This record gives sequence, C-alpha cells and structure tokens, in this order.
Amino acid sequence: MIHSDLKSRDLIAANWKMNVLPSESQSLAFSLCDLAWSENIEVLICPPFTHLFALRDLRKDGICLGAQDCHEALKGPYTGEVSALMLKDLNCDYVILGHSERRRMNPHEDQNIHSKIKTAMASGLNVIYCCGESLDIRIANAEKDFIHRQLKKDLFELEADVLDKLTIAYEPIWAIGTGKHATPEQIKEMHLFIRSALKSQFGLQSNVVRIIYGGSVNAANSDMLASIQEVQGVLVGGASLIPDEFKSIINSFNQRKN
Ligand code: PEP
Repeated sequence: MIHSDLKSRDLIAANWKMNVLPSESQSLAFSLCDLAWSENIEVLICPPFTHLFALRDLRKDGICLGAQDCHEALKGPYTGEVSALMLKDLNCDYVILGHSERRRMNPHEDQNIHSKIKTAMASGLNVIYCCGESLDIRIANAEKDFIHRQLKKDLFELEADVLDKLTIAYEPIWAIGTGKHATPEQIKEMHLFIRSALKSQFGLQSNVVRIIYGGSVNAANSDMLASIQEVQGVLVGGASLIPDEFKSIINSFNQRKN
C-alpha cells in the first residue's frame, strides 16, 4: 500500500478550459459538487480567470478553487497576464501549470514552466503540473524518455521541501478531449514510472507528491480509474461541465477502498 504515506485525499479536479459564462459559473459549480464534503477526496474547480471572483467563496461549500495558468513574474508590465499573487488574493488554492493546450498555444511555454511553478508555490499556491506524450511519441515507444525529460526540466531543480505543494497530472495528449482514455496498464505503468523518477531524484520526501490521471475521464471509466491504486485522483475536462458525469466521477473516488 502506498497511500498511507502519500497525500491522503484523492483530488478530483475540474478544468473548465474556456467554457461557461461568468454568470453561469456559480450554479454550475454548486450543481457539480453536492458530494464535495468528504474525508476521502478533495474536489477542485478551475474555471477561467474571469469567473474566479464570483467563485471566491467556494471553499465554504467544501470545494477548492484553482486557475488554469499564471505568469512567472509576481507583478509588472505584462499586459494581459495574471499573477500568482492575484490568484491567491482571490482565494485560489491551486493553479494548473504546463497543460498541453497551453504548451501548444504558446511556443515559449516550455521554457517558462519551471519559473511559473516556483513563483506559484512561493505565492502559497498548490500546483497541478501536467506532463504527457503525443501520439507520435507513444507510437515510437519513447514516452518514458519524453516524460523523464519533462520532469527533469520542469521539476528536478525544485527544493524537496516544496514537494508537498505538488500534484503531477499524467495526461497523454492523445487522450485529451478525444474520448480515448489510456488503458489501465498504460496508466499504472506511467504512474509507477513517474513515482520512481521522483524517488530517484528526491528520495523518500517525494512520497508527498500526488500523481493523478487526465485524458477523457468520464462516468463510464471512473470506476476503472479508481480501481488503480497508483491513481490518486483525476483531472477532468469535458465531463466536468456535465453535473451527472462529474458527480459519478466524484462518487467512484469517494467510495474507493485503498
Ligand atoms: C484536460 O483538460 O486536462 C483534459 C484531460 O480534458 P478531457 O477530460 O476533456 O480529455
């Protein structure tokens, strides 16, 4: 059993991406999360920046709030950007960094992720760091080398004493938004690989890092995901916009036996 010395609660995180209007955000958040109060799980909603003010009191309802990105500087002349301190001031607990959609949209993203992680953690935020290979890399059987390079560049220079603020989301790019999730064997293998890479780099202190899965998670596969011991939660895109789907996913993890 690995759970006893790892982050004790599984994380069920909703990534709304660029969906939902600010005026609709409270009613969707509340309808997603009737089951949010639980000792077994932590439920998190990551809406667009424009919705954070409306959702800043979600924690009173047992739901954590997060953002989908932040800038690597704390403040300054960066028109259109949002800082980690601003997110913290809006009661955010988490920020997603390194999502493959952001890496794809911004050619400089890869260079900035390490600095973003450090700034976010120094501002008091927990980080959900996303890594994952493309289909070409998977077909070439190079996924482990690729993920190792991502971890090395983005995480290995962190101080071990900030690792308790880190969640890693293994999100194969070919599974995001495609309806084609990774198989249980692939997920288990990659989670064990990431866990072992962390252990080689940081030693036992890395046990506090939570590792979750993302990529076409929905109500039909959440029981399967919750049955994989190494999976400590999920990052959910499309299905987090559909209350019945998201509640089923919450339920699968709420009822799991570790
Ligand atoms: C995501 O947004 O990180 C994601 C995994 O999306 P989806 O669940 O829609 O595949």
